[in-house]
Amino acid sequence: YHAKTHGETCSFYSNELDSHSTRRLTMLADLGTAIRENQLQLYYQPRIDIKTGACNGCEALLRWDHPLHGMVPPADFIPLAEMTEIIHPLSLWVLTSAMKQIRSWMDQGKEIAIAVNLSARNLIDIHCPSQVKSLLEEFDVPHRLLEIEITESALITDPHRAMQVVEEFHKLGIHLAIDDFGTGYSSMSYLKRLPIQTLKIDRSFVKDMLSDDADAVIVRSTIGLAHSFGLNVVAEGVEDEPTLMVLRNLQCEQAQGYHICRPVPVADFDAWYDARLN
Ligand code: C2E
Ligand code: CA
Ligand code: CA
Ligand code: CA
Repeated sequence: YHAKTHGETCSFYSNELDSHSTRRLTMLADLGTAIRENQLQLYYQPRIDIKTGACNGCEALLRWDHPLHGMVPPADFIPLAEMTEIIHPLSLWVLTSAMKQIRSWMDQGKEIAIAVNLSARNLIDIHCPSQVKSLLEEFDVPHRLLEIEITESALITDPHRAMQVVEEFHKLGIHLAIDDFGTGYSSMSYLKRLPIQTLKIDRSFVKDMLSDDADAVIVRSTIGLAHSFGLNVVAEGVEDEPTLMVLRNLQCEQAQGYHICRPVPVADFDAWYDARLN
């Protein structure tokens, strides 16, 4: 009886896996097409200086405008891309598009930095920094206007190699931020060793910081920790004014979140940006 149950469980599970992997394979094939046929799009979410309210940059967030499924969020396809080599052309597409956008803003007399998210596989790719360097030259973009966000988990696959790649980015004058800070491992040792300028506090801590004492403690101590390492802090997921006010009192430098602006297509970003005093 036990064996049968076990067998049933197994076959049920593997059927699940099969239909799952078929869907994934289709997705992966589609993703190749998406890159070639321009179905990808960058949305931009502004980040503000909490003291002045000025927008000093934005984060590029990838969207897939799928011909059948509509706008697909990154959570539905990036983890898949990250399991394969397709993350390389994908990230290259993101970097190239971001570079073109910075150039276009510069031609309009605007200096807006764009932060791009890179994956673990990009961080262990020793060619990545030289590709980025070529793009910066091709589009004649000041290096400080490109920022790179990495997560702590992206560093653990091959910490030694990742460290080398990060060091190369640093030498190029590119600003680096640790994303989703507090959700990964060994945060302290990375803070000591990595040439980073910014910590982004994960929105899971920011979201309830006014109602949850533990979250409040985490946010407050992360800001203190960052400052003692001479780092800037960006709070993500700021959804209301009271949270923004408390972050200001805690000396958090920058904020990002729906309360300020959602991630939007470039035309909406421009309208939002032009309507503010920057
Ligand atoms: P992330 O880097 O932590 O990006 C922030 C996510 O929080 C974005 O989700 C953004 O839309 C969302 N967000 C921003 N403000 C708020 C808020 O006030 N409230 C709430 N509830 N959410 C907020 P999104 O765009 O769905 O991206 C999800 C994740 O996908 C990103 O998390 C990032 O890890 C990944 N991702 C996005 N674009 C790229 C990319 O080009 N390359 C790579 N490798 N990963 C990307
Ligand atoms: Ca990010
Ligand atoms: Ca984040
Ligand atoms: Ca996150």
